[in-house]
Amino acid sequence: MFHLSNEQRMLIETVRRFIHEECRPLEDEVEASGDLADTQARALHDKARALGLYAMNMPAEFGGGGLSVVDRMLCEEQFGHTTDILIRRAFGNVYEPLLECRGEQVARWLLPAVQGARTCAIAITEPGAGSDAQGIRTRAELQADGSWRLHGSKHFISDGWWSDFFLVSARTGEREISMFMVDKGLPGFTLGKDQKMMGLRGTPHIELFFDNVPLEPLALLGQRGQGFKLVMGALNVVRLAQVGARAVGKASHVLELMTAYAQQRRQFGQAIGDFQLVQQMLADSVIEINAARLMVLHAAAMMDRGEDARDWIAMVKVHAAEMLGRVVDRGVQVFGGMGFCKELPIERYYRDARIYRIYDGTSEIHRGVIARSVLKKGAALFDLAR
Ligand SMILES: Cc1cc2nc3c(=O)[nH]c(=O)nc-3n(C[C@H](O)[C@H](O)[C@H](O)COP(=O)(O)OP(=O)(O)OC[C@H]3O[C@@H](n4cnc5c(N)ncnc54)[C@H](O)[C@@H]3O)c2cc1C
Repeated sequence: MFHLSNEQRMLIETVRRFIHEECRPLEDEVEASGDLADTQARALHDKARALGLYAMNMPAEFGGGGLSVVDRMLCEEQFGHTTDILIRRAFGNVYEPLLECRGEQVARWLLPAVQGARTCAIAITEPGAGSDAQGIRTRAELQADGSWRLHGSKHFISDGWWSDFFLVSARTGEREISMFMVDKGLPGFTLGKDQKMMGLRGTPHIELFFDNVPLEPLALLGQRGQGFKLVMGALNVVRLAQVGARAVGKASHVLELMTAYAQQRRQFGQAIGDFQLVQQMLADSVIEINAARLMVLHAAAMMDRGEDARDWIAMVKVHAAEMLGRVVDRGVQVFGGMGFCKELPIERYYRDARIYRIYDGTSEIHRGVIARSVLKKGAALFDLAR
């Protein structure tokens, strides 16, 4: 169904080459030190931006790449071949919800984010509210002059230390949640500890504390009580990209390594790739990666046509994340003891893959979305002719 144009092939090739030449050489150091030095981060950012590779997901009118959703997914798949923190610095993590900026907000938050002058993180999760994103306790109180006061805390906020501002969800009424753009450095806003993770070395995940933080009226994103819904909706494409397409890329990368190892590693006088049980692991991985890739592209094409792709994105979120888990597990197995050994990156990919089933909505939450939808819509969810 999908045929790549010459332009799409060139786009993929450009991103692939950049990752190979600029990101790959930094991976081991980031893994060993748990950090990407500021100078290296800036240099990586500058090189990527000079090539027009920064913020490719954002509309051209704001200085972004103006890619279609399909073209964006082709790039995101390539991003999956490297490490989270390097993707953030090279290609940006400019969240689509910022497109809700209006008037003065555009110059203050949207444009600097697209240009890479300011970095943004998204802060929804709290210690008491994860999957239940509407169960948050952080609250913003409206003042007589139209400004707000923010109280509460967030945790697990990716890239929080590097970020200049945060998209923060807060309760603005009993049954009302709004979104605010909160600048680092405001009085009463403090950053907590880096919550060390199993994988994703180099990317900090931090706590945020808001103690009566003053927010000007302009900090409200979207309408009061509506911004949260807008942001959650806009995060759909982020799920498709950062979980779906990147999982396909990461699994493809692991499969390349597994295949080469199966051809080169000899036991019992022959290549281990000659053993049918090893072949099965390769074959199952090829099948599952291709199925996930087609699902990602199908959902992306729906979005480009302006169709509602939410059900498909939920399916991609579950399938791609779980596919990646199975492929990296086979990767470790094909490499045997070397797959478990830190001398090779396979054990790192295994650790890094685990989070895909958890963030951006757990597999359980997305299965719930799909099940409710199929109970309501029936065959429309699995029969293309309906
Ligand atoms: C590395 C990392 C990076 C992250 N980055 C960010 C970030 O940048 N910004 C941000 O806001 N958040 C971020 N998060 C938070 C992430 O989105 C949450 O961890 C995720 O939504 C799950 O919430 P929780 O951890 O509170 O788990 P819980 O919601 O407590 O879930 C625990 C278990 O219960 C299950 N469960 C919960 N509700 C249901 C239900 N209704 N039906 C069935 N099962 C259910 C879950 O599936 C899970 O298995 C990050 C987390 C990690 C680990």
